[in-house]
Amino acid sequence: MSNLRIGQGFDAHKIKKGSNNFILGGITIDSDYEIIAHSDGDIISHAITDALLGASNMGDIGELAPSNKENEDISSIFLLKKVVNLLKTKGFEIINIDLTYIGEEPRLTKYKSKIKDSLAQAISINSNQISCKATTTDGLGYEGNLEGVSTQAIVLISKS
Ligand SMILES: [Zn+2]
Repeated sequence: MSNLRIGQGFDAHKIKKGSNNFILGGITIDSDYEIIAHSDGDIISHAITDALLGASNMGDIGELAPSNKENEDISSIFLLKKVVNLLKTKGFEIINIDLTYIGEEPRLTKYKSKIKDSLAQAISINSNQISCKATTTDGLGYEGNLEGVSTQAIVLISKS
């Protein structure tokens, strides 16, 4: 039997009208909205980080970087890289990542390939191993009411 493991991650943050940087997957997105979060609020990086921690059974992002003074404004890409390195030291290899961003604002259409490249570089894999999808909820719930945005991520890893 091959040593495959699957993991899933979810993250959501509040948004409000504003002009602070909106960072998703390490890319700054032009938007009339901004994220309200303890960290940089990069839900895409957070969801992937949690999915990797889940697949490798190493806890969750809250244990790795609790919402305290020390982790204020911490770069989510930095955290993601830290977890990728942890996985490497345990002999895990990332096979693919599939993510779904859910939000009314901002729209990701023109950023999807940039986000894939940014994540691929951070994770040291090929951008064709990452799928970046985006959807809305047709006006339903907090994403539809422009109160927040969320991301779901699924990863497949293998142990060599
Ligand atoms: Zn988060």
